[in-house]
Amino acid sequence: MADNFFKNKDLATDSLTKLYSREVIIEYANFLIGQGLPFCLALIDIDNFKNVNDNYGHSIGDHVIKFMAEKLKTALADRGVIGRFGGDEFMAIIPNITEYDAVWSLLREIHKAVDGARPPESKNLYITCTFGLSRFPTDAQDYDSLFELTDKALYRGKIKGRNCFIIYLESKHKNIQLHASDDTTISSMQMHNQIFRFLNSAPHIQDGIKDLLLFLSSNLMIDHIGIQTKKGLYFSQIYSLSDNQQFSSIENPFFMDNVSPSMGIYCLNDVSHLENINQKELLDECRKQGIKSTLYAGIFYNDEILGFIRADSTSVARIWQYKDMDLLITAANAIAMSLHYQNKSIEDL
Ligand code: GH3
Ligand code: MG
Repeated sequence: MADNFFKNKDLATDSLTKLYSREVIIEYANFLIGQGLPFCLALIDIDNFKNVNDNYGHSIGDHVIKFMAEKLKTALADRGVIGRFGGDEFMAIIPNITEYDAVWSLLREIHKAVDGARPPESKNLYITCTFGLSRFPTDAQDYDSLFELTDKALYRGKIKGRNCFIIYLESKHKNIQLHASDDTTISSMQMHNQIFRFLNSAPHIQDGIKDLLLFLSSNLMIDHIGIQTKKGLYFSQIYSLSDNQQFSSIENPFFMDNVSPSMGIYCLNDVSHLENINQKELLDECRKQGIKSTLYAGIFYNDEILGFIRADSTSVARIWQYKDMDLLITAANAIAMSLHYQNKSIEDL
């Protein structure tokens, strides 16, 4: 039945990848919906692709998109249809399979087949993708709603650290707020401005810090953010999608001692690395709190360290991005300045 859609038709393709165009894939999704035929809608986005363009140039970038298109098409084989959605993003439709475990196994297989791809044009590159997927009719009944849920799943995958696949589940992902990319909505400049406004406009610095941490945790989807000093954990803010709902102070000084004075930050993408550097006790403490990745941004005034903004990720090891680090360092500096001008120490708050 579904094959009828492709029979005897001259359907538009994308000139670079020769995959179906976005319009064809959307039309196919609407065809299946019209016929009441179950299917999965997946979005696949190349991770950190801007770096490829920036470091190797657009022409290599084009080769990578083409190469990944072929790899994805081969991995999906005759189980579905794939198109280029735009830029470094692909959209696949997988008819018939919608049962969670079956979808999971299929996604795992496809993810594995493309994970760490090495384009022949540039052997130094190691390309990964993030997948988001939702199911018809389980999750939504029309294309636009289905697309939004797929996009939420993809977004969750990117925030979790990329190179993974996420199947949309209402119980887990309903509350995700989609943010359009930086260039169209809140730019880095606005984010910086916002950080200072929280601290300057609140009547009490305590309120400003609370609002600021809430803003950072929801904007960057940080599972837990708080201020830690040698005396304890303050202003602890837990993101609604966090796997853990309780965090406590980490007494071990290792993270704090390792904040680089020049960068003002220490970041650990995967706490299991602590085992290799003889920090087994600290690893146990992280595991007890469900922490998979952590980041400490120093609140310095002059050379004095007042405390740290501590950010934790619980669901998976998160690869901290420049944007996360940049905003947390800025927030830490802004807090240090506010405390200084109000002649307060963190522990007074
Ligand atoms: P993320 O992991 O969050 O996806 O990071 P990213 O760097 O991949 O970010 P994003 O997907 O937003 O970036 C896509 C980039 O792809 C932006 C644009 O400059 C580039 N791009 C879009 N179309 C083409 C193309 O046809 N050829 C090349 N070389 N680059 C393209
Ligand atoms: Mg991308």
